[in-house]
Amino acid sequence: MSQADLEADCSRCAGLCCVALAFDRSDRFGHDKLAGEPCYHLASDFRCKIHARREELGYDGCVAFDCLGAGQRATAMFAQRDWRGDRTVALALYARFSLMTKLQEMRQALMTAADLELAPEHEAVRVALLSRIVALADHVPATPEEDDIDPQGAAVLAEAKQFLRRLADVVSF
Ligand code: SF4
Repeated sequence: MSQADLEADCSRCAGLCCVALAFDRSDRFGHDKLAGEPCYHLASDFRCKIHARREELGYDGCVAFDCLGAGQRATAMFAQRDWRGDRTVALALYARFSLMTKLQEMRQALMTAADLELAPEHEAVRVALLSRIVALADHVPATPEEDDIDPQGAAVLAEAKQFLRRLADVVSF
C-alpha cells in the first residue's frame, strides 16, 4: 500500500467532482451549482474548459479539491451501466462517488495511523479495517449485479470512525 493508492487520476474519471458535488458561489467557487448538475465549465470530454485559469477566474476551490482517487474508482465501477442515459443510474453513480471519497479519506487516515506506535490489539484492528476498505475501494465488479458495496461501505466507515475515536483516547497525537 502506498501514496499512489490515494492519487486522483482525472484522465480515468467522468468529471465526477465537477458534476456530483454542490457548490455555493463564494470566493472559492464562481457560481452556484446544484449537486448532480454539470459545472458549466465542464466540457463534453470531462475536461475543465478553464483548467489553467481556475484561480484567476475565482475557482481555486477546484484547485484545492482532492478526491484521493475516488473519481476514477467510482467511474470504473459504473463502466458497464448506462449512467449517461438513465438519470437514476447517474444519481447512483454520484452517490457512489461520495461513498468512495469517504472510503479513500478513511483509507488515508488508517494508512497514516501506521506511523503511530499502536498496541498490538489496536494495530490488528487498524490492519483489518484497512484491508476491508481496500477490498471495497479497489473492487471493480464484473457485472452490475455484483456491485453491492454500498451497505458494506457504510458499515466499515462507521466501524472505522469508532475505532479512530477510541484511538484518540489512548494515543497522544
Ligand atoms: S471550474 Fe472546472 S474544475 Fe471546477 S467544477 Fe467547473 S469544470 Fe470542474
